[in-house]
Amino acid sequence: MKLAFPEMGRYSIRTKLLTINFVTIGTVLFLLTIILQGIGFVSGRAVMVEDMRAQVSMIASNSTAALVFNDPRAANEILSALRASPMVRRAALFTLDRQVFASYQRDTAEAGPMIISTENENGHAFALSYLDIYQNVFVENKRVGILYLRADMKPLYLRLLWNGVIVSVLALVALAVGFVVLNRLQRTISLPIIHLADLARQVSEKRDYSIRSPVESADEIGELAKSFNEMLKQIQTRDAELAHELMERKKAEQRLDHLANYDTVTGLPNRYYFNDRLSMALSRSNQSHELVALMFLDLDNFKIVNDTLGHHVGDELLHYVAHRLQAVLRPGDAICRVGGDEFAIILENLTDASQAEMVAHKCMKSLSGAMDFSGHGVYISVSIGISLYPQDTTDMHELLKNADTAMYHAKAKGKNTCQVFLSEMKGMAQKRLTLETNLRRAIERNEFHLHYQPLIQFPGREIVGVEALIRWMHPELGVVNPADFIPLAEETGLIIPIGAWVLQTACEQAKAWNDMSLEPIIMAVNLSGRQFKEKNIVAEILSVLKKTGLDPRLLELELTESILMENDSSTIAKMRELDRAGIRLSVDDFGTGYSSMTTLKNFPISILKVDRSFVRDLPDDGDDAAITEAIIAMAKSLKLSVTAEGVETEEQALYLEEKSCNRCQGFYFSRPAPALEITAKLQKSNAIKIQENKIPLYQRLLWDGSHRKRRPNP
Ligand code: C2E
Ligand code: MG
Ligand code: MG
Repeated sequence: MKLAFPEMGRYSIRTKLLTINFVTIGTVLFLLTIILQGIGFVSGRAVMVEDMRAQVSMIASNSTAALVFNDPRAANEILSALRASPMVRRAALFTLDRQVFASYQRDTAEAGPMIISTENENGHAFALSYLDIYQNVFVENKRVGILYLRADMKPLYLRLLWNGVIVSVLALVALAVGFVVLNRLQRTISLPIIHLADLARQVSEKRDYSIRSPVESADEIGELAKSFNEMLKQIQTRDAELAHELMERKKAEQRLDHLANYDTVTGLPNRYYFNDRLSMALSRSNQSHELVALMFLDLDNFKIVNDTLGHHVGDELLHYVAHRLQAVLRPGDAICRVGGDEFAIILENLTDASQAEMVAHKCMKSLSGAMDFSGHGVYISVSIGISLYPQDTTDMHELLKNADTAMYHAKAKGKNTCQVFLSEMKGMAQKRLTLETNLRRAIERNEFHLHYQPLIQFPGREIVGVEALIRWMHPELGVVNPADFIPLAEETGLIIPIGAWVLQTACEQAKAWNDMSLEPIIMAVNLSGRQFKEKNIVAEILSVLKKTGLDPRLLELELTESILMENDSSTIAKMRELDRAGIRLSVDDFGTGYSSMTTLKNFPISILKVDRSFVRDLPDDGDDAAITEAIIAMAKSLKLSVTAEGVETEEQALYLEEKSCNRCQGFYFSRPAPALEITAKLQKSNAIKIQENKIPLYQRLLWDGSHRKRRPNP
């Protein structure tokens, strides 16, 4: 909106209101004074005309006789009576022929001839300083002369001046009174507005939206105050909402920040945070010239816990491990979770590697013993790799790599141990990378082949079958063990084509042996969890059997405990289908997982293969003996056959035989060997003879029941 008087914009509303009122009242009083003066002038003039006319009439009637009798002297005397009227300046009596008959002139009046014009014979005329009056003089209705009188206007003006002075004084008094009254009245408008403006300033200065203006009237100002209060209320609400929103956003940011830097399962800092901590520790070490140890910890067998007992137990375990590890560290040490079951610890201000090793042993000790998770007794151990800065390297990434490499060495040493990085380990990480690249090409290049390890039947110790074990003949690395590449193959999914190749080759070999065998030769093939998860695995297995012509009853599939722990409907369905086809299923490395009797009962399993870790220290180790016996007892009660793995001594074999173990396998009887060597072994043990009869012998044996003495009783 454009103001009519923009220059007024800088004055206060009070000043403006006073000015407006003052100017308005002043203007009104001024106009009133002018009008009053005007009226005074007009009415004063009319009164004057009337007064003069009365005098003229009186003189005219008195002068008739003097005119009639032509007596100018008498006429002059009559006119001189006008002396008593101070306003009259001069007067004259004219004859009809316009000759001055008598005249009167006040001394002060201006001299000059007295002339009368024809049109002014009866009436009056004004000039600025005088009033002329004419009147015919009659005698018996006969006009005999003309009387002329000039009155002075000054007395009228004087009176008007006085009146003006009085009116002006009165107007000024009225103006003053009006000003005082209006000054008081304007406060009813200006004060609430000033108050509102004050409040608005306070609100904007203090940002206090809880302030409210009192609503004192029902007029527009009251309305304004109400709206102002409503506006403040809305701002206050919005402000509170905004503050809440900001707080929530801040919390969310903090949560995100926490999520970005901390691990939700263990509450420990994660890899990102860890990298920061490590680089800070390294720069501190550069100044203090003391050693920093980076320890990489990887839980042994965590995958089994996770796969068999479920992720929630896995998470609980990780949380518990984090808690235990934290408890052995000093306040300045940093621990982070850097991967699935991997932790990293940064130790500062060390003087030599032995201090780090001491901490590593403390960590291992803190995790020893059984832990109870959701009713499951879990044993966990940890493999630790240690690398020192700047002793091993001055590069942070290399330090990480070194600790990782050392950790892998610790694992290779047999787990639950720690290993300090040594410079000769450097090639290992590179080896893993090369391994992955080469693994992809290994199938096409025909670098895989199978070794077979005989399965020995108790009692009698005859070969009843073999387990197919893959070998990778790497052109540069030489023979690579399955333990070194099967996990990698599972990780990369390459286990699917590799597993298919193993099954095909093993079945072909089994078929060949069985075709020339007197006795049925069982072929045990390892199936990885990843392979078993394949939708069409059953169809593929059956198709291989069909293609190779191997009797399904001669095929044993070795499954891991983790497959059983999946326990979903498709796993059971697949196993039942295989069982219906006549294929026998065994649980490999039994005892390392957490499958219970109830789990085993749910599955169509025929054989338990006791893990070689329980066999290793038999018969001297009481715990292992108890476990092995318990497994055998449980298997019997479930009508399962038991195979013991890793039999290396006669004592072990005797012990197992005595405990009614059904079968065993191990270096004591035979190391895994190529097909040719196994053929020779089979021939030597009279299991294979060149057959004239082409009907596979095992069928005959199955028909006449004689096989029972050779085959484990499931
Ligand atoms: P596994 O199925 O339990 O196989 C038995 C392992 O124990 C073999 O190791 C064998 O050489 C070893 N072994 C046998 N007797 C003795 C003994 O008396 N003492 C000792 N110390 N070890 C003995 P290998 O061949 O290195 O295989 C390791 C694992 O790799 C196998 O354990 C199996 O889980 C996996 N594997 C091997 N071949 C295949 C395969 O074709 N497919 C799949 N999915 N896994 C395979
Ligand atoms: Mg096996
Ligand atoms: Mg095994």
